Amino acid sequence: MVERTSLQNSPPTPHTLPRDILVVGSVALDDVETPFGRVEGALGGSATYFATAASFYAPVKLVGVVGDDFPPEHVEFLRRRQVDLAGLEVVEGGRTFRWRGRYEYDLNTAHTLDTQLNVFAEFSPKLPETYRRPGLLFLANIAPELQRAVLEQIERPALVALDTMNFWISSRRDALADVMRLVDVVLINEAEARQFADTYSLLGAARAILALGPKAVIIKKGEYGASMFTDGDHPGETYFFAPAYPLETVKDPTGAGDTFAGGFLGALAREPVLDANAFRRAIVHGSVMASFTVEDFSINRLRALTADEIERRFAEFQAFTRF
Ligand code: AMP
Repeated sequence: MVERTSLQNSPPTPHTLPRDILVVGSVALDDVETPFGRVEGALGGSATYFATAASFYAPVKLVGVVGDDFPPEHVEFLRRRQVDLAGLEVVEGGRTFRWRGRYEYDLNTAHTLDTQLNVFAEFSPKLPETYRRPGLLFLANIAPELQRAVLEQIERPALVALDTMNFWISSRRDALADVMRLVDVVLINEAEARQFADTYSLLGAARAILALGPKAVIIKKGEYGASMFTDGDHPGETYFFAPAYPLETVKDPTGAGDTFAGGFLGALAREPVLDANAFRRAIVHGSVMASFTVEDFSINRLRALTADEIERRFAEFQAFTRF
């Protein structure tokens, strides 16, 4: 049985900083079309985007599965980002998860044209021994049963966060609600929060999720930023909002949510105490990482990204949100 820990009252970490982060989620080949171009078989997947972004902040261990059609250069890329791939299974003769999506000029809405789970349909993760005591855990967008299987194989870390999407809300709502009961933070986008809670009000949706047990709900609103809701009656204490970085060129929003989560947990991995202020800084780091991702297709903008660029954009956020 897995129990939740209190987020606000987490004691200073006994770990050295940064904590390491374990992620389970999809590792995919994506076919994506936007008004600004298209890619076929590009490196994608929730765990891939998350791990790439988080690797700028902390050591990352990845749990997932690919087929033997997964190009070796993608594995090489993750290795160069120092992502631990001991938990990435390769299935001989299997096909990698494939997602096909399209965006219109409203880049906030992804239209899924096809989802092929392929090797993920039969995947049952067995965590390497070195993965069982992570500093932080991210259950990236994937089947809720898989998210739970990973949670049950580890010692409870300082914080567990979860992301999901409409595909799982429609097909596995009960299993998803069960995993939400076990986590500290739920990240979800605006439309999916409404779908999950069956209400138009985002505050109402956030409260419905908080009622399941998480201490914080972060609702992502694409180019309109991200809001965090925690329990209580006073917005000054229970609500936080960060805008998105203003960009003139956005080519492909795929992975924005996962890289947001990567910046968010990556920043928390470096915080000695996981209190409300640490969460606010982490949300801005999430917004910074998402803003880079959408500037190009796939993870391409992150390939040459530097720590300096991240720090500069973080400082700009501080400047344009101060009043
Ligand atoms: P995001 O744009 O951050 O929501 O994430 C996009 C990534 O999620 C893409 O790279 C897809 O490969 C992956 N993805 C799409 N549908 C699913 C799904 N049903 N389960 C897991 N990952 C998915």
